[in-house]
Amino acid sequence: MMRSIFIFLGLAFWFQSAGFAQSNAPVSASPTDKPLEEVFDAPVLKLSSDQVVQGQLCALELEAPWREGVQYTLEGLGQKIPFYDQGPIPNKSHHRFRTFLSVKADLKPGGYTLSVKDEEGHRALKEHLEVKPGSFYSQYIRFVSPPLKPEQQKQVAEEDKWVDAVKDLRTEQAFWNGPFVLPVPHRVSAAFGTRRYLNGKYNGYHSGVDFASPMGYPVKAPGGARVALARYFSKYNSNGNLVFLDHGQGITSVYIHFSKLAVKEGDRVSKGQTIGYIGSTGRSTGPHLHWGFYLNGQNVDGLAWIRFSERAFQ
Ligand SMILES: [Zn+2]
Repeated sequence: MMRSIFIFLGLAFWFQSAGFAQSNAPVSASPTDKPLEEVFDAPVLKLSSDQVVQGQLCALELEAPWREGVQYTLEGLGQKIPFYDQGPIPNKSHHRFRTFLSVKADLKPGGYTLSVKDEEGHRALKEHLEVKPGSFYSQYIRFVSPPLKPEQQKQVAEEDKWVDAVKDLRTEQAFWNGPFVLPVPHRVSAAFGTRRYLNGKYNGYHSGVDFASPMGYPVKAPGGARVALARYFSKYNSNGNLVFLDHGQGITSVYIHFSKLAVKEGDRVSKGQTIGYIGSTGRSTGPHLHWGFYLNGQNVDGLAWIRFSERAFQ
C-alpha cells in the first residue's frame, strides 16, 4: 500500500514538472494510458516532511536512472549537497539515492524551493519546503578575549586548519547503520540553536549541544564511524582536545573540551565505543561536552538527528 502511494505521489509530481499540471484530466485516478515501463521509469523525489522547523532536518530520497559516474545534487537553502547511492531498486532500472538536508537554526521562516540536478546541471525534479520558526533560548555573554601573542595566533591558525580539512567530508561509504544514541546520558546545559549575544551583539547561535557531564566521564560514539581527527590542541585554542567522527554519506560529529582521547585518527569505531573523556580544555568554564553534529558540512541539532534516526533506521 505504501508503495503504491509513493509511486502515485511521484507520478503526480512528475506530470506537474513536465507541464501536465494544467490538464483538466485527473492525473491521479487512472495513472496511465502510457506503457507501464515508462510510468515506472519516472524519477521520484520523496521528502521525509514538507515542513521543517529551524535547526532540524529533512531526509530526501530519490529514485532515478543510474549510469556509471552519475551524480545527483540537491540545491536549496543556499546549499549544494550530493545524493548518495543506496544501490539498485529490485525489478527497476533505477537506483535509490539519499541525502540529508540541515535547516539552519536562524534561516528565515518561509517557503523554499529544492531542486535536484544531474552532473550536467539539468534540473530533474523540484520540490517545495516550508521552514517553520523554532523556539530558542537566548544567552547574553560578556567576554573579553585575552590578546594572543603572534606565535600563539600562528599555532591556533595551524590547528584550525586540521578542523577545516575534515568539517565538510562527504564520504560515499556509510560507516553506520541503525538508530544513533546519545554520547553521554547527562542533562543538556545549552541547547542547539541558543541565540548568543556577545557584549550585546548577536553572535550567531550555539552550533552544538552541551551536556553537563562530570570530569573524566567516558564519551561514546553515537553511531559507527571512522575517526577523522583526534588531537590534543594548544591551550590557546577554544576547542580544546578534539575528536571528529566521519559517519559517512555526509554525516559527521565533533566532540570538544576532552581531558583525554581514547581513539587515534583512522580508527574505525562502533556505536557505543568510548572515544574520549570529559574535560574542560579550550574555552570552557567547567567540565562539559560540546557535541556538534553536521549534515553535509552544515550544523544540525544532534538530538533531532537521534529522534529522526530512531524512526527512520529501525
Ligand atoms: Zn557548546
